[in-house]
Amino acid sequence: MTDRCNLRCVYCMPAEDVHWIPREDLLTLDEILRVVEAGAKVGLSKVRLTGGEPLVHPDILDLVNGISRLEGIEDVSLTTNGMLLERLAPRLAEAGLKRVNVSLDTLQPEKFKKITRFGNLSRVLAGIHAAEQSGMLPVKLNAVIVKGVNDDELIDFAQLTVEHAWHVRFIELMPIGNEGNWGTGFPSHGQRYYSVQEMQARLAPLGILPTSSPVGNGPARSYTIPGALGTIGFISPLGDHFCQSCNRLRLTADGHLRPCLFSRDEVSVREALPSGAGMIDLLQTAVALKPAGHHLELSALTSNSNRIMCQIGG
Ligand code: SAM
Ligand code: SF4
Repeated sequence: MTDRCNLRCVYCMPAEDVHWIPREDLLTLDEILRVVEAGAKVGLSKVRLTGGEPLVHPDILDLVNGISRLEGIEDVSLTTNGMLLERLAPRLAEAGLKRVNVSLDTLQPEKFKKITRFGNLSRVLAGIHAAEQSGMLPVKLNAVIVKGVNDDELIDFAQLTVEHAWHVRFIELMPIGNEGNWGTGFPSHGQRYYSVQEMQARLAPLGILPTSSPVGNGPARSYTIPGALGTIGFISPLGDHFCQSCNRLRLTADGHLRPCLFSRDEVSVREALPSGAGMIDLLQTAVALKPAGHHLELSALTSNSNRIMCQIGG
Protein backbone atom coordinates (compact mmCIF):
# COMPACT_ATOMS: atom_id res chain seq x y z
CA MET A 1 0.00 0.00 0.00
CA THR A 2 2.80 2.39 0.84
CA ASP A 3 6.51 2.28 1.56
CA ARG A 4 6.04 4.86 4.37
CA CYS A 5 6.16 3.69 7.95
CA ASN A 6 5.85 5.11 11.46
CA LEU A 7 8.71 2.83 12.65
CA ARG A 8 12.23 2.12 11.40
CA CYS A 9 12.94 -1.50 12.33
CA VAL A 10 16.67 -2.08 12.07
CA TYR A 11 16.38 -5.11 9.77
CA CYS A 12 13.95 -3.40 7.39
CA MET A 13 14.99 0.22 6.94
CA PRO A 14 17.95 2.49 7.51
CA ALA A 15 17.55 5.05 10.34
CA GLU A 16 17.63 7.98 7.92
CA ASP A 17 17.98 8.88 4.25
CA VAL A 18 15.25 6.50 3.15
CA HIS A 19 14.39 7.25 -0.49
CA TRP A 20 10.60 7.19 -0.49
CA ILE A 21 8.68 6.43 -3.65
CA PRO A 22 7.52 9.86 -4.95
CA ARG A 23 3.88 10.52 -3.99
CA GLU A 24 2.84 10.96 -7.62
CA ASP A 25 4.03 7.40 -8.36
CA LEU A 26 1.91 5.76 -5.66
CA LEU A 27 -1.18 3.90 -6.83
CA THR A 28 -4.46 5.52 -5.87
CA LEU A 29 -7.25 3.69 -4.09
CA ASP A 30 -9.14 3.20 -7.37
CA GLU A 31 -6.04 1.93 -9.14
CA ILE A 32 -5.34 -0.68 -6.46
CA LEU A 33 -8.96 -1.80 -6.68
CA ARG A 34 -8.70 -2.10 -10.46
CA VAL A 35 -5.74 -4.49 -10.15
CA VAL A 36 -7.41 -6.61 -7.47
CA GLU A 37 -10.68 -6.71 -9.39
CA ALA A 38 -8.88 -8.04 -12.48
CA GLY A 39 -7.09 -10.60 -10.29
CA ALA A 40 -10.38 -11.78 -8.80
CA LYS A 41 -11.63 -12.54 -12.32
CA VAL A 42 -8.79 -15.03 -12.84
CA GLY A 43 -8.79 -16.79 -9.50
CA LEU A 44 -7.38 -14.40 -6.89
CA SER A 45 -9.36 -14.94 -3.70
CA LYS A 46 -7.09 -13.83 -0.85
CA VAL A 47 -5.60 -10.38 -0.40
CA ARG A 48 -3.12 -9.25 2.22
CA LEU A 49 -2.48 -5.54 2.72
CA THR A 50 1.01 -4.63 3.81
CA GLY A 51 3.69 -1.98 3.33
CA GLY A 52 5.50 -0.01 4.81
CA GLU A 53 2.82 0.42 7.40
CA PRO A 54 -0.67 -0.04 5.91
CA LEU A 55 -2.36 1.68 8.85
CA VAL A 56 -0.65 5.02 8.11
CA HIS A 57 -2.35 5.05 4.69
CA PRO A 58 -5.19 7.61 4.71
CA ASP A 59 -7.46 5.36 2.60
CA ILE A 60 -6.98 2.15 4.57
CA LEU A 61 -10.62 1.74 5.67
CA ASP A 62 -12.01 2.51 2.21
CA LEU A 63 -9.57 0.10 0.64
CA VAL A 64 -10.44 -2.77 2.99
CA ASN A 65 -14.08 -2.04 2.35
CA GLY A 66 -13.64 -1.86 -1.43
CA ILE A 67 -11.57 -5.04 -1.70
CA SER A 68 -13.77 -7.10 0.59
CA ARG A 69 -16.81 -6.26 -1.57
CA LEU A 70 -15.22 -7.45 -4.82
CA GLU A 71 -16.78 -10.58 -6.25
CA GLY A 72 -14.49 -13.56 -5.74
CA ILE A 73 -12.51 -12.09 -2.85
CA GLU A 74 -12.98 -14.34 0.18
CA ASP A 75 -10.32 -13.17 2.55
CA VAL A 76 -8.76 -9.76 3.27
CA SER A 77 -6.04 -9.58 5.88
CA LEU A 78 -3.34 -7.14 6.85
CA THR A 79 0.20 -7.13 8.23
CA THR A 80 0.89 -4.30 10.65
CA ASN A 81 3.35 -3.13 13.27
CA GLY A 82 0.32 -2.63 15.53
CA MET A 83 1.12 0.94 16.62
CA LEU A 84 -2.21 2.30 15.32
CA LEU A 85 -4.21 -0.88 15.71
CA GLU A 86 -5.95 -0.24 19.03
CA ARG A 87 -7.81 2.76 17.61
CA LEU A 88 -8.49 1.26 14.16
CA ALA A 89 -9.31 -2.40 14.94
CA PRO A 90 -13.11 -2.05 15.35
CA ARG A 91 -13.44 0.01 12.16
CA LEU A 92 -11.17 -2.35 10.21
CA ALA A 93 -13.29 -5.32 11.25
CA GLU A 94 -16.43 -3.42 10.30
CA ALA A 95 -14.90 -2.61 6.90
CA GLY A 96 -14.45 -6.34 6.23
CA LEU A 97 -10.95 -7.16 7.46
CA LYS A 98 -10.85 -10.82 8.49
CA ARG A 99 -7.48 -11.14 10.24
CA VAL A 100 -4.32 -9.29 11.19
CA ASN A 101 -0.69 -10.32 11.50
CA VAL A 102 1.06 -8.13 14.02
CA SER A 103 4.84 -7.88 13.93
CA LEU A 104 6.34 -8.26 17.38
CA ASP A 105 9.99 -9.18 17.79
CA THR A 106 10.42 -8.81 21.54
CA LEU A 107 8.36 -8.74 24.73
CA GLN A 108 10.80 -6.34 26.42
CA PRO A 109 9.89 -2.61 26.18
CA GLU A 110 13.46 -1.25 25.97
CA LYS A 111 14.53 -3.83 23.41
CA PHE A 112 11.36 -3.11 21.41
CA LYS A 113 12.30 0.56 21.23
CA LYS A 114 15.82 -0.36 20.12
CA ILE A 115 14.73 -2.73 17.34
CA THR A 116 11.97 -0.46 16.00
CA ARG A 117 13.82 2.80 16.81
CA PHE A 118 10.54 4.58 17.86
CA GLY A 119 8.12 1.85 18.87
CA ASN A 120 6.08 1.53 22.02
CA LEU A 121 5.47 -2.07 23.11
CA SER A 122 2.41 -1.36 25.25
CA ARG A 123 0.63 0.28 22.30
CA VAL A 124 1.25 -2.78 20.16
CA LEU A 125 0.01 -5.14 22.89
CA ALA A 126 -3.13 -3.00 23.25
CA GLY A 127 -3.57 -3.25 19.47
CA ILE A 128 -3.32 -7.05 19.57
CA HIS A 129 -6.02 -7.25 22.25
CA ALA A 130 -8.21 -4.80 20.31
CA ALA A 131 -7.92 -6.93 17.16
CA GLU A 132 -8.91 -9.98 19.15
CA GLN A 133 -11.89 -8.21 20.72
CA SER A 134 -12.98 -7.03 17.28
CA GLY A 135 -13.21 -10.66 16.15
CA MET A 136 -10.28 -10.70 13.72
CA LEU A 137 -9.18 -14.22 14.57
CA PRO A 138 -6.83 -15.90 14.93
CA VAL A 139 -4.41 -13.05 15.66
CA LYS A 140 -0.99 -13.93 14.31
CA LEU A 141 2.24 -12.54 15.69
CA ASN A 142 5.31 -12.35 13.44
CA ALA A 143 8.68 -12.43 15.19
CA VAL A 144 11.83 -12.11 13.09
CA ILE A 145 14.48 -13.93 15.10
CA VAL A 146 17.97 -12.43 15.06
CA LYS A 147 20.88 -14.15 16.74
CA GLY A 148 22.07 -12.32 19.83
CA VAL A 149 19.09 -9.94 19.72
CA ASN A 150 15.92 -11.91 20.50
CA ASP A 151 16.78 -15.62 20.23
CA ASP A 152 16.77 -15.61 24.06
CA GLU A 153 13.00 -14.88 23.96
CA LEU A 154 11.88 -17.87 21.88
CA ILE A 155 10.53 -19.73 24.90
CA ASP A 156 8.77 -16.60 26.23
CA PHE A 157 7.04 -16.11 22.87
CA ALA A 158 6.07 -19.78 22.61
CA GLN A 159 4.63 -19.70 26.12
CA LEU A 160 2.29 -16.87 25.11
CA THR A 161 0.35 -19.47 23.11
CA VAL A 162 -0.47 -21.48 26.23
CA GLU A 163 -3.06 -18.97 27.44
CA HIS A 164 -3.76 -16.99 24.27
CA ALA A 165 -5.30 -18.42 21.10
CA TRP A 166 -2.61 -16.62 19.10
CA HIS A 167 -0.49 -18.02 16.31
CA VAL A 168 3.13 -17.01 16.90
CA ARG A 169 5.29 -17.29 13.79
CA PHE A 170 9.06 -17.31 14.03
CA ILE A 171 10.65 -15.97 10.86
CA GLU A 172 14.25 -16.26 9.70
CA LEU A 173 15.93 -12.96 8.96
CA MET A 174 16.00 -12.39 5.21
CA PRO A 175 18.82 -10.60 3.43
CA ILE A 176 16.48 -7.98 1.99
CA GLY A 177 16.44 -4.46 3.24
CA ASN A 178 18.96 -3.20 5.65
CA GLU A 179 22.01 -5.38 5.48
CA GLY A 180 24.35 -2.61 6.70
CA ASN A 181 25.26 -1.50 10.21
CA TRP A 182 22.29 -1.52 12.60
CA GLY A 183 24.01 0.56 15.27
CA THR A 184 25.51 -0.06 18.69
CA GLY A 185 24.60 -3.24 20.45
CA PHE A 186 23.53 -5.12 17.31
CA PRO A 187 25.50 -7.94 15.67
CA SER A 188 27.22 -7.25 12.37
CA HIS A 189 26.01 -8.60 9.03
CA GLY A 190 26.97 -12.27 8.80
CA GLN A 191 26.48 -12.77 12.57
CA ARG A 192 22.70 -12.26 12.63
CA TYR A 193 21.15 -15.28 10.92
CA TYR A 194 19.40 -17.77 13.22
CA SER A 195 17.95 -20.79 11.43
CA VAL A 196 14.61 -22.47 12.02
CA GLN A 197 16.54 -25.59 13.04
CA GLU A 198 18.26 -23.58 15.80
CA MET A 199 14.88 -22.14 16.85
CA GLN A 200 13.33 -25.60 17.07
CA ALA A 201 16.26 -26.91 19.11
CA ARG A 202 15.82 -24.00 21.50
CA LEU A 203 12.12 -24.87 21.90
CA ALA A 204 12.69 -28.62 22.35
CA PRO A 205 12.22 -28.46 26.17
CA LEU A 206 8.59 -27.38 25.58
CA GLY A 207 7.82 -30.65 23.74
CA ILE A 208 6.11 -28.94 20.78
CA LEU A 209 4.18 -31.26 18.43
CA PRO A 210 3.12 -30.80 14.77
CA THR A 211 -0.47 -29.62 14.33
CA SER A 212 -2.73 -28.39 11.52
CA SER A 213 -2.21 -24.82 10.36
CA PRO A 214 -4.64 -21.98 11.01
CA VAL A 215 -6.40 -20.28 8.06
CA GLY A 216 -4.21 -18.29 5.69
CA ASN A 217 -0.99 -19.61 7.12
CA GLY A 218 0.96 -19.54 3.86
CA PRO A 219 4.38 -21.09 4.20
CA ALA A 220 4.48 -21.57 7.99
CA ARG A 221 4.61 -25.12 9.40
CA SER A 222 2.59 -25.33 12.61
CA TYR A 223 3.23 -26.83 16.03
CA THR A 224 1.63 -26.65 19.43
CA ILE A 225 2.60 -27.03 23.06
CA PRO A 226 0.38 -29.86 24.35
CA GLY A 227 -2.74 -28.31 25.92
CA ALA A 228 -2.03 -24.78 24.59
CA LEU A 229 -4.78 -22.57 23.11
CA GLY A 230 -2.57 -21.18 20.37
CA THR A 231 -0.05 -22.48 17.86
CA ILE A 232 3.53 -21.84 16.78
CA GLY A 233 4.83 -21.58 13.21
CA PHE A 234 8.23 -21.38 11.57
CA ILE A 235 9.01 -19.59 8.33
CA SER A 236 12.26 -20.55 6.72
CA PRO A 237 12.62 -18.91 3.32
CA LEU A 238 16.37 -19.47 3.22
CA GLY A 239 16.90 -22.81 4.89
CA ASP A 240 13.84 -24.54 3.54
CA HIS A 241 12.82 -23.58 0.00
CA PHE A 242 9.03 -23.59 -0.23
CA CYS A 243 9.05 -22.05 -3.69
CA GLN A 244 7.13 -24.87 -5.38
CA SER A 245 4.07 -24.19 -3.22
CA CYS A 246 4.26 -20.38 -3.42
CA ASN A 247 1.18 -18.90 -5.10
CA ARG A 248 1.74 -15.24 -4.18
CA LEU A 249 1.99 -12.16 -6.31
CA ARG A 250 3.02 -8.91 -4.69
CA LEU A 251 1.82 -5.54 -5.97
CA THR A 252 4.15 -2.71 -5.00
CA ALA A 253 2.84 0.70 -3.98
CA ASP A 254 4.18 2.13 -7.26
CA GLY A 255 2.34 -0.37 -9.43
CA HIS A 256 4.66 -3.29 -10.09
CA LEU A 257 3.73 -6.94 -9.82
CA ARG A 258 6.57 -8.85 -8.21
CA PRO A 259 6.42 -12.60 -8.89
CA CYS A 260 9.04 -13.52 -6.27
CA LEU A 261 10.17 -11.80 -3.08
CA PHE A 262 13.80 -12.59 -3.90
CA SER A 263 13.85 -11.81 -7.61
CA ARG A 264 14.26 -8.44 -9.30
CA ASP A 265 11.73 -9.40 -12.01
CA GLU A 266 8.72 -7.08 -12.04
CA VAL A 267 5.79 -6.37 -14.36
CA SER A 268 4.44 -2.82 -14.39
CA VAL A 269 0.65 -2.51 -14.36
CA ARG A 270 0.76 1.19 -15.27
CA GLU A 271 -0.15 0.77 -18.93
CA ALA A 272 -3.39 -1.03 -17.98
CA LEU A 273 -4.43 1.35 -15.21
CA PRO A 274 -6.47 3.95 -17.10
CA SER A 275 -9.24 1.54 -18.16
CA GLY A 276 -8.22 -1.82 -16.71
CA ALA A 277 -7.93 -3.22 -20.28
CA GLY A 278 -5.00 -5.64 -20.54
CA MET A 279 -4.68 -6.01 -16.77
CA ILE A 280 -5.47 -9.73 -16.81
CA ASP A 281 -2.71 -10.31 -19.40
CA LEU A 282 -0.22 -8.48 -17.19
CA LEU A 283 -1.24 -10.56 -14.16
CA GLN A 284 -0.80 -13.74 -16.16
CA THR A 285 2.60 -12.58 -17.41
CA ALA A 286 3.66 -12.03 -13.80
CA VAL A 287 2.44 -15.49 -12.76
CA ALA A 288 4.36 -17.05 -15.65
CA LEU A 289 7.51 -15.28 -14.42
CA LYS A 290 7.37 -16.98 -11.03
CA PRO A 291 10.71 -18.78 -10.80
CA ALA A 292 11.03 -22.48 -9.96
CA GLY A 293 13.10 -21.48 -6.94
CA HIS A 294 15.13 -18.63 -5.52
CA HIS A 295 18.89 -18.55 -5.71
CA LEU A 296 19.77 -17.27 -2.29
CA GLU A 297 22.29 -19.40 -0.55
CA LEU A 298 22.77 -19.45 3.17
CA SER A 299 26.46 -18.81 2.79
CA ALA A 300 25.98 -15.71 0.62
CA LEU A 301 23.34 -14.06 2.80
CA THR A 302 22.95 -11.16 0.47
CA SER A 303 20.04 -10.62 -1.86
CA ASN A 304 21.25 -7.89 -4.15
CA SER A 305 17.63 -6.69 -3.98
CA ASN A 306 16.60 -3.58 -5.87
CA ARG A 307 14.01 -2.80 -3.17
CA ILE A 308 14.14 -2.80 0.60
CA MET A 309 11.54 -4.82 2.54
CA CYS A 310 9.25 -1.85 3.24
CA GLN A 311 8.90 -1.43 -0.54
CA ILE A 312 8.03 -5.10 -1.06
CA GLY A 313 5.79 -5.84 1.91
CA GLY A 314 7.35 -8.86 3.54
N1 SAM B 1 4.85 -2.57 8.71
C1 SAM B 1 4.18 -3.82 8.75
C2 SAM B 1 4.79 -4.75 9.77
O1 SAM B 1 5.89 -4.49 10.22
O2 SAM B 1 4.15 -5.74 10.09
C3 SAM B 1 4.08 -4.49 7.40
C4 SAM B 1 5.28 -4.45 6.51
S1 SAM B 1 6.69 -5.38 7.08
C5 SAM B 1 7.82 -5.11 5.75
C6 SAM B 1 6.10 -7.03 6.85
C7 SAM B 1 6.89 -8.09 7.60
O3 SAM B 1 8.18 -8.17 7.06
C8 SAM B 1 7.04 -7.82 9.09
O4 SAM B 1 6.56 -8.93 9.84
C9 SAM B 1 8.52 -7.67 9.27
O5 SAM B 1 8.96 -8.16 10.51
C10 SAM B 1 9.06 -8.49 8.11
N2 SAM B 1 10.42 -8.12 7.71
C11 SAM B 1 10.90 -6.90 7.40
N3 SAM B 1 12.22 -6.96 7.08
C12 SAM B 1 12.55 -8.28 7.19
C13 SAM B 1 13.76 -9.01 7.00
N4 SAM B 1 14.89 -8.41 6.61
N5 SAM B 1 13.74 -10.34 7.20
C14 SAM B 1 12.60 -10.99 7.58
N6 SAM B 1 11.43 -10.36 7.77
C15 SAM B 1 11.41 -9.02 7.59
FE1 SF4 C 1 7.99 -0.44 9.25
FE2 SF4 C 1 7.17 -2.97 9.17
FE3 SF4 C 1 9.55 -2.28 8.15
FE4 SF4 C 1 9.22 -2.23 10.78
S1 SF4 C 1 9.10 -4.03 9.47
S2 SF4 C 1 10.16 -0.61 9.53
S3 SF4 C 1 7.15 -1.61 10.95
S4 SF4 C 1 7.61 -1.63 7.40
